[in-house]
Amino acid sequence: MTKYTGKGVYGAIALGRVAVYERYRVPVKRDRIKHPGEELARLEKAKTQASHQLEELYEKALVEVGETNAQIFDIHRMLIDDEDFNEAVTEMIQGQCVNAEYAVSVTADNFARMFEAMEDAYMQGRAADVRDVSNRIIACLSNNGRTEFHLKEPAIICADDLAPSETVTLDKDKVLAFVTANGSYNSHTAILARNMSIPAIIGVGEKFLSDVKNGDLAIADGFTGEFILHPDGKTLEAAKKRLQTELEKKELLQKLKGKDNVTLDGRRIHIFANIGSVDHIGSVLLSDAGGIGLFRSEFLYLESHDFPSEDSQFKVYRRVLESMPTKKVIIRTLDIGADKQVDYFDLDKEDNPALGLRAVRLCLTRPEIFKTQLRALYRASVFGKLGIMFPMITDLSELKECLSLCEQVKRELSFGGRKYADDVEIGIMIETPAAALISEKLAPLVDFFSVGTNDLTQYTLACDRQNPRLERFCDPHHEAVLRLIELSAQNAHKHGAWIGICGELAADTTLTEAFLRMGIDELSVSPAFVLKIRDTVRKLDLSSEKTF
Ligand code: PEP
Ligand code: MG
Repeated sequence: MTKYTGKGVYGAIALGRVAVYERYRVPVKRDRIKHPGEELARLEKAKTQASHQLEELYEKALVEVGETNAQIFDIHRMLIDDEDFNEAVTEMIQGQCVNAEYAVSVTADNFARMFEAMEDAYMQGRAADVRDVSNRIIACLSNNGRTEFHLKEPAIICADDLAPSETVTLDKDKVLAFVTANGSYNSHTAILARNMSIPAIIGVGEKFLSDVKNGDLAIADGFTGEFILHPDGKTLEAAKKRLQTELEKKELLQKLKGKDNVTLDGRRIHIFANIGSVDHIGSVLLSDAGGIGLFRSEFLYLESHDFPSEDSQFKVYRRVLESMPTKKVIIRTLDIGADKQVDYFDLDKEDNPALGLRAVRLCLTRPEIFKTQLRALYRASVFGKLGIMFPMITDLSELKECLSLCEQVKRELSFGGRKYADDVEIGIMIETPAAALISEKLAPLVDFFSVGTNDLTQYTLACDRQNPRLERFCDPHHEAVLRLIELSAQNAHKHGAWIGICGELAADTTLTEAFLRMGIDELSVSPAFVLKIRDTVRKLDLSSEKTF
């Protein structure tokens, strides 16, 4: 048994035989040509053929992974027509009298390297797209079109890396998992794997490729990022058990899709999903969540080496909103500090960071950072149904300051001729006992509350949420925590605001009934739990009196 560790990009487990991905590549040589005009005509014909192939791939992807993901093949078609790319290729053919295959290959390599050298991880991921498109054109130039890799039996695909078109052309029903030696988390292949709900592990390292052979038995664990070759009996048994559990969860998922979140006596609630990255939207869509109840925007900052610019943030928020055009998307403003530290913020060391300069406190101390984010959010607001939520509020004055900065940002945007939606909902997280206790004063100023039970438990019970030794003292079902939630619900409703829960407790099905009886309107949980909560809600009957 040999274990390799990479990065799991989609949490699911697979057990089966290995198929090593074989790639058809036309060897490219440099040939001297006599008639550049003829060579350019040959290139045009190959580009048209490649473009048709991409159109077909787009249609296939549209059905299998949805429009947002299928768009990659439209982008590939645009790359075929990219002016800079074509100018460079034409210049090479005419100026150096070289064959089209060679000119395309060299130009694509230059462009791919340029993308790889960019700081932005998303742009780095585009290098694979350029290489993929150029290979397609080269295959068309060689009159072979493209020979795709075919799977006879279901298998775990092992490869150095996979291009998006290679991923999508595989017969999805026969792919048990993807395991690649290289690859980036932001590559479209990783994104596609996530959206196709196929276990995937990237970055296992080159060595694994020389060890795996077709037909080898293996386990791919997309949760832990482990790839286990030739598993022993005990490991195999454990994997089989986990697979069974996964299967049961999947069946439940299928059964409940499209159904209402309504109790037996007719009480309806919203079940939304929590995510930390735009890449997880696929799992939100698959989970059938009614919206995004918590987008943890700080991950944008945590994944970056410097402050993300207004434009780069705008692009991310816009992508999230466009992916869910009719559904509510609640983006929480920056929640840095405490356990989420970022070097480039240059924060002073604190003895008690959980009680320190975190979240909205940091934003109000460094308004230029906060305003950049708010501007990006409001600019994106025209692309969907946005809600903005402020974390760690403890006082009315903080909320008023946040609201005043929102107004300032909107005025500045109007002044600069920029559009923003005028129906953006504003909410706060209830994650300090102070906020819950003064919720009556906070509620009139907002559209919604969202209870952050992870922090609310930590601050109410004075228990560091990071310290595993405190577990027995840190009971999230503690009466004090539940009372604070109930009080917040009463005060929200008294002033016409709605209230949700987005902390981990929202997924605790032993509390679903209590939450509904308190009047909670929305539960926001990890995508994997959406249907489990729906199942619980649909079995509840709240018609008889019951107190907690
Ligand atoms: C919470 O505190 O419950 C919450 C949702 O926020 P985070 O876990 O990101 O602190
Ligand atoms: Mg919190």
